[in-house]
Amino acid sequence: MKHFPAIEYRHRRLLARLLAAMLVLLMPIGISGCEKADEREFFAMDAYMRIRVFGAPEGALDEAADEIEALSALLSATDEKSEIYALNHAEGKAMTVSPDAFDIIERGLELSRELGGCFELSLRPVSRAWGFTEDENRVPPESELRELLKLVGDERIVTDRAARTVALPAGFELDLGALAKGYAADRAKERLSDAGVSAALIDLGSSTILAFGKKPDGSKWKIAVRDPMGGDTPAGTIEFDGGAISTSGGWERYFEGPDGQVYWHIIDPRTGAPARTGAYSVTVLTDDALYGDALSTALFVMGPDGAKEYYEAHGDFEYLMFSEDGGMLMSPGMKGLFTPAG
Ligand code: ADP
Ligand code: MG
Repeated sequence: MKHFPAIEYRHRRLLARLLAAMLVLLMPIGISGCEKADEREFFAMDAYMRIRVFGAPEGALDEAADEIEALSALLSATDEKSEIYALNHAEGKAMTVSPDAFDIIERGLELSRELGGCFELSLRPVSRAWGFTEDENRVPPESELRELLKLVGDERIVTDRAARTVALPAGFELDLGALAKGYAADRAKERLSDAGVSAALIDLGSSTILAFGKKPDGSKWKIAVRDPMGGDTPAGTIEFDGGAISTSGGWERYFEGPDGQVYWHIIDPRTGAPARTGAYSVTVLTDDALYGDALSTALFVMGPDGAKEYYEAHGDFEYLMFSEDGGMLMSPGMKGLFTPAG
């Protein structure tokens, strides 16, 4: 496939970070003007993040950024000091967790039931075998994946709200990578609203963006959607009144195997291998960012037909999908919000 340059994964991520730093200058767009906006940029959850607020009281921006940084430390599966790391090594015992960890796990499990086997919080044993979080990519043999899939199954995770405990079966491990940024964006929004911020744009690394409130000039929020086939030129823009925009793409994290095949970080829990159901990039618009983050990952796994069916059954979001064959699919509501470039 010619749109995948054969750059070693490690170097590609460095390059991606540099590009991300440059991209934040471009995306989201249309929020400059004569009105006064305050801004803070920082690095967390492996991404360059930016929060822009209008009419913010002193300290509100810092509080929101601190909250995201704290969540990043709490929810990482690789940081040995994190709560999720401790839970992943509890060897089958129930563990008391913080309200935030409990909340994200419970809501993740709810979504996992809803998303019909396309979304699993307990996917880590499988994703680790592919080396995505460790930057040591390999193609595991099918027999290994079959064994590891025995350690995946969110329905076997037991939570107790009153005691605030979570119990993973022995050998199970959580990976909250598909929804941690969404959760963090929702929490940052809460923080900012409580502090009296009237409008803000919370950009957690371009793949999760949340906008709320009315901009002082009354214009709509405007977000550029990357064209996955065309490098860094946008495919178009989405204009909306507020909500969360989440993107999951095969171009975000991938490596080329010794067989010349491209393997990306979005895994189909039914096979244990990168999802190849025809999707190449999915962008969704939802009310809350946690739902959007999980949904963009799950719709990617569902592929074009499955995503359409899911949309028709639920309809509580809008989406735009680029398929591997270069096609673009949109939900009816998205057609009114998306303007192609050019
Ligand atoms: P990004 O983190 O780049 O915004 P996504 O939101 O699509 O991208 O999440 C991808 C991450 O989610 C992967 O890196 C992995 O940690 C996890 N993941 C991959 N496939 C699944 C899946 N089917 N269900 C739940 N989590 C997944
Ligand atoms: Mg996601």
